[in-house]
Amino acid sequence: MAWSDKSHPHRLLLTKQFPLGLEMLSVFQPAMLAANRIWNSCVWHSREAFRQENRWPTEAELKAKFKSFAAWHELHSQSAQAVVEEYFEAVSSYSRHRENGHLEMNPPNFKPKNHLRTVTWKRQGFDVEDNTLVLKLSRKKEPIKVALPEGWNVVTLPDGIGMKGVPVEVKVKAVVRRRKVENLVLHVTFDLGVVPVYRTGAVSAYDYNSGLVARAALSGQLDLFVCRELLSLVQYRNKVLAEFQEKMSRLKEGSRRWRKLSRAKARKLRKLDRRIRQMEHALTKLFAELDEAEGVAFAVVGDLTNLRRSARTGMKGRKATQKINQMAYDRLHAEQRYKNLMRGVQTDPWTEKNTSSACCLCGTRNPAWRKHRGLWVCRKCGLILQADLNGAANLLKQYLFGSCTGRELPFAFGESRVWRWDKRSNKFEQVSPRAA
Ligand SMILES: [Zn+2]
Repeated sequence: MAWSDKSHPHRLLLTKQFPLGLEMLSVFQPAMLAANRIWNSCVWHSREAFRQENRWPTEAELKAKFKSFAAWHELHSQSAQAVVEEYFEAVSSYSRHRENGHLEMNPPNFKPKNHLRTVTWKRQGFDVEDNTLVLKLSRKKEPIKVALPEGWNVVTLPDGIGMKGVPVEVKVKAVVRRRKVENLVLHVTFDLGVVPVYRTGAVSAYDYNSGLVARAALSGQLDLFVCRELLSLVQYRNKVLAEFQEKMSRLKEGSRRWRKLSRAKARKLRKLDRRIRQMEHALTKLFAELDEAEGVAFAVVGDLTNLRRSARTGMKGRKATQKINQMAYDRLHAEQRYKNLMRGVQTDPWTEKNTSSACCLCGTRNPAWRKHRGLWVCRKCGLILQADLNGAANLLKQYLFGSCTGRELPFAFGESRVWRWDKRSNKFEQVSPRAA
């Protein structure tokens, strides 16, 4: 299941998958190939415009231009437009990565002629007749009908309650392994409406660091999540990627050796990404479960927009860039957010300013008191605490009072717990503090 919040911060959108079987391939193939032709036209026309006029075309220009194309008339108009939109999303994500120093990224490129591109049907592009989805193509063509099992539009929330969703978007994707199409899968996104969140209750704060997440709750509970395995997997992934890029840069693009390496790269990364996602999922699920169990109404996370800006302008230099390039904070936050939402917990990004350079207990600020090996040692009140836990407690204070400095902690610390990844159970388990 996946989540997005395009319209309302508490609107819950969840995606369910339905494998279709290969017998549906011949039904969907023409539409998927047409979508692929539109994609390739986007690449071609963008490059042509750049070559001739030294500027990139806009989304509207390409859409207007393609309206006369044969491929455009295979699909429902919204589905055809969606391909152009995806192309521009890919372009902007490419330039964003370049800006953040990922020079190894390639701009969106041509896809092979027989590539089965994902086709999207927006709200006006399909109808629902009981348990059948009617996916519209262009006006002259017969729509594609897909029968779905009973209860297809019911989504079960973590508390066991089944909610009926309104389908708002349908995608058909090909599952390809080793260049062979193995299956077609229908991704249906349901709108479950705006979820009520608890308006009163406890507050918890999360301090994300590379390899470590610290949590502080209003009850005085402190938690430390050791993510060393996740971090080293991410670093290993970056290393593997760089090695492949380096090897491929010495070959001619599109050559036999190059294509072989490119396939091996995709295979290797897919495998690593699966393991990374599994760990991220387990981590954010644990956060949401702890918050739910402790009656937390607001989960506070550090606001990353400032961090990213400072990384780009070089204000904080290497440290901020490093922080961004290590764990996928955006993705972790998005996951934590939707898992919280499913449990009625609101996630609030909040500024991390001064949280790592002040004492959470007495409120005195002094950057020098953050010692090596991640320990906070306060020369004023004598507090000795793991530095990230100090940061999380400060974030909590900042959320409650607007600032973490010049004020004492309004509650007493309770026990602190340590969690780390357990290979056998595939989740984060509580360990004795000494083990960390
Ligand atoms: Zn102090």
